[in-house]
Amino acid sequence: MSPSLSSPSADSPTGPDNPYGHSLPSYLQAENLGPWGNYLQQVDRVIPHLGNLARWAETLKRPKRVLIVDVPIHMDDGSIAHFEGYRVQHNVSRGPGKGGVRFHQDVTLSEVMALSAWMSVKNAAVNVPYGGAKGGIRVDPKKLSLGELERMTRRYTSEIGIIIGPNKDIPAPDVNTNEQIMAWMMDTYSMNTGSTATGVVTGKPVDLGGSLGRREATGRGVFTVGTEAAHRINLKIFGERVAIQGFGNVGGVAGKLFAEAGALVVAVQDNGGTIYREAGLDVPALLKHVAATGSVGGFASAEVLATDKFWDVPCDILIPAALEQQITAANAHRIQARMLIEGANGPTTPAADDILQSRNVLVLPDVIANAGGVTVSYFEWVQDFSSFFWDEDEINARLVKIMKNAFAGIWQVAEEHNVSLRTATFIVACKRILHTRELRGLYP
Ligand code: GLU
Repeated sequence: MSPSLSSPSADSPTGPDNPYGHSLPSYLQAENLGPWGNYLQQVDRVIPHLGNLARWAETLKRPKRVLIVDVPIHMDDGSIAHFEGYRVQHNVSRGPGKGGVRFHQDVTLSEVMALSAWMSVKNAAVNVPYGGAKGGIRVDPKKLSLGELERMTRRYTSEIGIIIGPNKDIPAPDVNTNEQIMAWMMDTYSMNTGSTATGVVTGKPVDLGGSLGRREATGRGVFTVGTEAAHRINLKIFGERVAIQGFGNVGGVAGKLFAEAGALVVAVQDNGGTIYREAGLDVPALLKHVAATGSVGGFASAEVLATDKFWDVPCDILIPAALEQQITAANAHRIQARMLIEGANGPTTPAADDILQSRNVLVLPDVIANAGGVTVSYFEWVQDFSSFFWDEDEINARLVKIMKNAFAGIWQVAEEHNVSLRTATFIVACKRILHTRELRGLYP
């Protein structure tokens, strides 16, 4: 166990000086070195900047509520399979829990806890009135039939139904979940509660109370924050070389917007392969290829690279838009880009952050860079409550305004405190979270 990670701050109510308690419960400690450990290190970096609010900081190191559920379903072959599901509400001081649900074979409780905490920070960073939550099922959904996927989604929704709701905790899409899955979740919750509750999830189909612009929102936010940061470091978008890991809802949309602005998308990696073209890939054709085949593998008119070579690609902007812990101390020194935009949640470890900072690579952290998705989720939730729906131009304009203002504030804090953009985002967000925590007080 690393002492710097496990020792709470001196004024922590359960710190070593506290005769009543001990350090964090074992399942919350950083020794697992997974995403939750990375998150705890990020929190430790912000505590010195919190002033008097630091006395509440341990709130950030403990999820409010953790639910582990068994999800049994009938498989098509007549057998019964059990899946492990989670829903974690990290913090609800600023409003209901909010965050996606991911279906992936490697999902763990530690991962979902970290993702829920990053949602608390992200929601506070863009100042939408939510706490943070996240859910997941440990499953490879590609191995399920459509019927099995529906049964699993519905049973999972029923199981977490005791803690979700339009005013309690609002799930949304994440890795391997989509509009159809949100429709099943909304329907299951509504059937169980006896009335149609569109606001219980976001990222629904537009015909079912979803919002225009939601599907593209995360990628659009990545592009918006990337453009704002680029201006500040004299990086043009036109003609700059972009490399993207993950070409789905986030990476694909961001790639399209960067290409439309004149950037050259030179490399793309997904779980079907790694492709490269020095003069820039034909992004519209690549999007069609991915829609038809499911991955970038097999795309004509591109060189194929070995998976690990992706990190050496000559580029100006790197966008990790897949899973967490991709950029580590083992590969951070190889990255050629001047700017890294985190489309994924948690793609860069704290050790890699330090290496990138020492090499002057500007990192735009997940907790602001990919906040466009949840920002339009908020718009969707508001529209559902009022049953009044906005046009796409209005949604995009509001999204861009929120992202630009939030980023400008974070940039200023980074300059004032002489810290990374990640720590600056944590300063802005954690102050907001802990201020409401203090205002609300302890009860019961
Ligand atoms: N899964 C997305 C994220 O990580 C969106 C969550 C939401 O819209 O609630 O930010």
